Amino acid sequence: MGQCQMRNERISIYCHTQNNGTCDLFDYESIAHQKQQFTIQNQDSYIIRNEEVLQLIHQIPNENSEVLLFVTAKNTIVPGTLQQQGNSTALTNTQFPYKLKKNWLTVRSVNKYPLNVNDIFRLGKMTFRISSLSFNPDKEPEVLNHSKADSNEQCRICLGNTQSSNPLLNPCKCSGSLKYIHLECMKRWLKEFTSASRSSEKSETYLWNQLKCEICKESYKVIFQSDGVTYHMLELLKPRFPYVMLEFYSKKKETQVNQINLGDRFTSKSDGVIVISLGQKMSLGRARENWVKLCEASVSRFHATLQIEKIQQQDSLFLFDNNSKYGTLVQIKEDLQIYQELEVQVGKSLFKLQTSNITC
Ligand SMILES: [Zn+2]
Ligand SMILES: [Zn+2]
Repeated sequence: MGQCQMRNERISIYCHTQNNGTCDLFDYESIAHQKQQFTIQNQDSYIIRNEEVLQLIHQIPNENSEVLLFVTAKNTIVPGTLQQQGNSTALTNTQFPYKLKKNWLTVRSVNKYPLNVNDIFRLGKMTFRISSLSFNPDKEPEVLNHSKADSNEQCRICLGNTQSSNPLLNPCKCSGSLKYIHLECMKRWLKEFTSASRSSEKSETYLWNQLKCEICKESYKVIFQSDGVTYHMLELLKPRFPYVMLEFYSKKKETQVNQINLGDRFTSKSDGVIVISLGQKMSLGRARENWVKLCEASVSRFHATLQIEKIQQQDSLFLFDNNSKYGTLVQIKEDLQIYQELEVQVGKSLFKLQTSNITC
């Protein structure tokens, strides 16, 4: 044979699978892992679950297979879900005859991860989607331009009239002199009502299922109409200071995270939203001392950190893991090239992928 022209790379895959527990979580602190190892080289490769063991195959799996990992001959990981955005080449599950489980990149394996709007990340059982991010909000949210300015209606809380940037809204079934409430009065009330134990000066948490008018008992909708104008709660809750807004989902609804239609900027399928005021460094975790306190047992006391760093003079938001018990995970949405070392979590399995050059 002639000279080898191709740069050949061999990939070693170290699999750790946790066989206890019911949730799709991988516990870094547990030592009860089943270990397996595979080596692949420039060949489409699938890791499937066969009863309790993992199996490496190179032919296209049949439709009943549960595929955990798909690495192409070009050494890319192909995620099993579609988050159509920009020029993403990610394939849809419908293009596969089999079921491909969601792939999550562990943040500790890449040191830090740059976050953008629509990115989905997980801390324990809590899943978050970045719904908006602003380093310098300088203008009024555009939604406020629609508000009616010509009325002598009154706010039922403060009895004031419409002011610019603080419109009177009717988000429920109340009528008459109780019909209207100022946006700012509603926000203040929602904050006290839904998050007395959850908010700090640094963040505000709004739970959709707790948003109810105390007078008519009507649930506030995430998207509602007032005097013929459609308002989006996520737009209304945007603050005027630098912030990141995270929609969050409980584990049982995690499947719905994939159903978000990104063409529509808003979804009402989340459990709620956390508005975090940006600082240089923001810790997330179960402990009270965190910038954002998360009340969920599977979240570590000091689980992860958000940090602002400049990239080419531009502010960027990075996610770091603090050696958390269940890891900090970012959903892989586009084909991911494997180079050097990567760690991917799929269900209760953790895959460490390492490349090594082969000289021929
Ligand atoms: Zn008011
Ligand atoms: Zn009402």
